[in-house]
Amino acid sequence: MRGLKGIRKGDTKKVSENLIISLSWCTSLMDQLGVDIEQSVWNRFPNVCSYCGESPCACKAKKVQKRLHIKPDETRRPSTIGGLQKMFDMIYPSSRRTIEQAGIHLAEEVGELSEAVLRFRGHHRDADFDQIVLEASDLFSCYMAVFNSLPLDYHAELVKAFSDGCHACRKSPCECPYDYVLNFKS
Ligand SMILES: [Zn+2]
Ligand SMILES: [Zn+2]
Repeated sequence: MRGLKGIRKGDTKKVSENLIISLSWCTSLMDQLGVDIEQSVWNRFPNVCSYCGESPCACKAKKVQKRLHIKPDETRRPSTIGGLQKMFDMIYPSSRRTIEQAGIHLAEEVGELSEAVLRFRGHHRDADFDQIVLEASDLFSCYMAVFNSLPLDYHAELVKAFSDGCHACRKSPCECPYDYVLNFKS
């Protein structure tokens, strides 16, 4: 939410810092659940839009209602984080949306992922777990959309924040006390 506040205030540094922190949190949550987020993102976005199967996405023109089942072409799989970010800009070009629209979409997907996590915690059904994986992949695409809209190099921002340990205490593993995390200003 602080990242979104950065969008509203036109403060790119605030957007980047907070989105890097929250995407890293999301990645650790996926680690805890044993989800390979890179693989899941590729399954969901195999170099084309997962609804219409095209790049750039042609959902609007084709009036696509249902998600297609696409067989990924492994030869086109990005091998770096930078490649992944570029892939998303090809599928969903930043020229087609405002940064505010990218931010609103990100907020929607955060809500959908939290709903999926809560539903899974309630019932522990396989289908609910699969939904977490799908929602996390959609959310990842929205983070990339915001970084592409700014535009900012996600890989470079990630290195800036974490190459020297935790972004706050600079230790690895992080040793930030809980009350410090609660009061962390970003
Ligand atoms: Zn599409
Ligand atoms: Zn720390």
